Amino acid sequence: MAKVKRVPLIAGNWKMNLDHLQSIAFVQKLAWTLKDANHDFGVEGAEVAVFPPFTDLRSVQTLVAADKLEVCFGGQDLSEHDSGAYTGEISGAFLASLDCRYVLVGHSERRTMHGETDEQLARKVAAAVKHGLVPVLCVGETADDLEAHGPSAVPVAQLKAGLAEVSGTPELVIAYEPVWAIGSGKAATPEQAEQVAARLRETLAEVLGDDVAAATRILYGGSVKSGNIASLMREPNIDGALVGGASLDVAEFASISRFSKHVGT
Ligand code: PEP
Repeated sequence: MAKVKRVPLIAGNWKMNLDHLQSIAFVQKLAWTLKDANHDFGVEGAEVAVFPPFTDLRSVQTLVAADKLEVCFGGQDLSEHDSGAYTGEISGAFLASLDCRYVLVGHSERRTMHGETDEQLARKVAAAVKHGLVPVLCVGETADDLEAHGPSAVPVAQLKAGLAEVSGTPELVIAYEPVWAIGSGKAATPEQAEQVAARLRETLAEVLGDDVAAATRILYGGSVKSGNIASLMREPNIDGALVGGASLDVAEFASISRFSKHVGT
């Protein structure tokens, strides 16, 4: 199948790593590394986004604006609420006012460690869209799910549930992250990832129509490295990657972002 042209997105989820001072050094170095390699942002190349801890966002925003860096950024989570008595929560409105373009919703660590439910995540997706953020909705099966239900059933069910509160033609990104592949060093094969990504795109078409399905970028996440990104990116329904561990190494993350230079490896 010919690959439909969607701007690839390489997204780095820093999780709870790098404080605000470290974030400045990291983003500066990342931008220089990409520039040195003549990385052609958003045209032939990929859009590159980082997801720092909340406490770094103001520093990253200031640096990106001052130096006109071609790096996008987003939050790792948001509240389903706009404002009020929700101690410790962060409103999508606050992220939008810091120029965040994206926000992660439903990362497996939020689902498992914080008990976030599909219903709550649907409200977070709607809150992100309401505040002009692009939600990066994470879905994926555990090793037990895989054995019990096969590869697609759980991610497809999570996607359907996650879209329950949105309608029309919202800009979305879906990250397929098999939980067994996250941080394990054992990525899904390109064929495995493509099989699920294709089902996710069909699901997008069923729920929000063909235009949204064609426009939505579907990322693969789970032990992505510079050595496996090119083969994943050759698959027709994979439009980028959500990168955890490898996103904390500037050279490695920049190399992943330049996957088009090493297609064939
Ligand atoms: C993640 O946590 O989203 C992730 C993909 O992690 P890693 O790349 O380290 O597997």
